[in-house]
Amino acid sequence: MHADVTYTEIEGLIALKSKSARWPASSNTYLLVSDNKSLIIDPGCGFHERAKLIEKVLKNEKVDMFESVIVLTHAHPDHMGATKFLSTKRILIHAIEVEYAKNPSLLSKPFDISFIKNVFGKYSQFDLIEYFAGLCPIYGVDAIAINDRISFGDYTLKVILTPGHSPGHISLYLKSERVLFSGDLLGDVMAWYSPSAGGVEAYLESLSRLEKLKVDIIMPSHGSPTTPERIETEREILEQREKKILEEIEKGIGSREELSKSLFGKRWSFLTNLLIVESHLRKLRKEGKVTELFK
Ligand SMILES: [Zn+2]
Ligand SMILES: [Zn+2]
Repeated sequence: MHADVTYTEIEGLIALKSKSARWPASSNTYLLVSDNKSLIIDPGCGFHERAKLIEKVLKNEKVDMFESVIVLTHAHPDHMGATKFLSTKRILIHAIEVEYAKNPSLLSKPFDISFIKNVFGKYSQFDLIEYFAGLCPIYGVDAIAINDRISFGDYTLKVILTPGHSPGHISLYLKSERVLFSGDLLGDVMAWYSPSAGGVEAYLESLSRLEKLKVDIIMPSHGSPTTPERIETEREILEQREKKILEEIEKGIGSREELSKSLFGKRWSFLTNLLIVESHLRKLRKEGKVTELFK
């Protein structure tokens, strides 16, 4: 779980950037330091190394861990796993995600595991938490619901609900510095989305919400800092996928499997790709553009 430690141009902001932006790599961790306290945004996968690195960096900054606060953008293993190994004053997450933070086995719901099991036999024996355990472990933690705003030392961050990838996913806006911590919603690799996390509709609405902010730089959970242009790029990806699905249906494709193959090739049966296809199908059905339920 190695990461590059960067002391950014923004005063008090330290970035621990993971070597890879792809699953099962840890999310990046951002540390805001003020008055010997730190706001730790997304500690990363549940391995001791990441927690030790966070502690080491903060020790150099003379930070008191017991006065520090962890904020989780959402309760996925690559963001919250290492939380268990850090002793902070509080752990904050959106109210919608509190249950998943306390009991990660409930994540089967926003991952739509029962739908996947019903439709795709390949996943009949699949256990989400077991799958995470080998790659990027997750443990339940005692998180509490975050307010609309976090005031922390010299900084105030606005909490913006941005579902689509997970139902209570948040982005954090540091207006004074025109910086946005986008979680998984924006970044080098576009996040997957699932019906129970809000699907395509929620994702598009979240992008519109972020577009309204005055932002110079976006600090994503995966990959390098990016700019607000990334919002339009992601909207285009969503629109292109929808267009492709409609074209394929027009041509006569009539199964989820075939649709996923046309969108994702060899990786068609990967859980999150199946969820992406299903998210589009549900949107299109609601809009009356697809009438039949795919088998
Ligand atoms: Zn995630
Ligand atoms: Zn992630």
